[in-house]
Amino acid sequence: MNAPSTPSGPALPTARGRFAPSPTGDLHAGSLLAALGSWLFARSAAGGWLVRIEDVDRPREVPGAAARQLETLAACGLVADGPVIRQSERGAVYRGALDRLLAQGDAFTCHCSRADLAATGGVHARCVARRERPDPAVRFRVPPGTRIGFHDQVQGRYEQDLSRTVGDFVLLRADGCWAYQLAVVVDDAAQGITGVVRGADLIDSTPRQILLQRALGLPTPTYAHLPLLLGRDGRKLSKSDADLPVDPADPLPALAVAWRHLGQRPLELPRGTAPADFLHAAMAGFDPRRIPRTLPFPGA
Ligand code: GLU
Repeated sequence: MNAPSTPSGPALPTARGRFAPSPTGDLHAGSLLAALGSWLFARSAAGGWLVRIEDVDRPREVPGAAARQLETLAACGLVADGPVIRQSERGAVYRGALDRLLAQGDAFTCHCSRADLAATGGVHARCVARRERPDPAVRFRVPPGTRIGFHDQVQGRYEQDLSRTVGDFVLLRADGCWAYQLAVVVDDAAQGITGVVRGADLIDSTPRQILLQRALGLPTPTYAHLPLLLGRDGRKLSKSDADLPVDPADPLPALAVAWRHLGQRPLELPRGTAPADFLHAAMAGFDPRRIPRTLPFPGA
């Protein structure tokens, strides 16, 4: 899994960030925060910025959402420096990684159902299936005592006892879909991503991803988990709820809100500023040390 060669166009810088939306709905204020944040981190390291459509979870996909997300990003001036890749087209690459993990003894076929694991709170430590299933899953084996910690550029030190809190995790689901954890690790490496910037709801996935990187001999990028934007009900905004959509016909207000949520000093820009000019000014004024770990609950 080498860094990708771009089929055409100039070579990408070696520092690279990415935005990796799942096409489960339109882009909203929370996803724009991740898109803008990842773009700013990448650009302030003089790096490239890539977009990947994470459409492995076919049952949750909303038809047309990926195209609309890309249009909205483009309206915001956020355009990928290389080809947009789609996880739905990369099954053979994930299969290669899975076969390697199986051959190494790091992965195993598992017939356990959700009900089988209810007694251990969903944490799989050993197979307890009462019967064989026609459609077994494949899990990553997490040895007892596995702890993984890392330094997050926004949240600080984060550590997880994987064997106790996560257990053996799914790589290939019983319904035949590739699990996010495997696909994201394979693709971040394949796209040569050096800095992952995303919402803080994913921070508890990062130790699993670091463990997978080590098992596959892949480099570990730096991580920055941005504060989560909460809805009035205190829950994370979700694309499927279409909370606070971004208007592609008038993206500046949403960009300005995302900038404010990143804790940055206001940009004094004239009304009607073009998104490209906003981004230019944002890049010049961006200070990652100002990003808050959390955002206040809007209902408070
Ligand atoms: N596809 C995930 C989402 O839309 C993001 C994954 C990531 O950035 O690692 O929430």
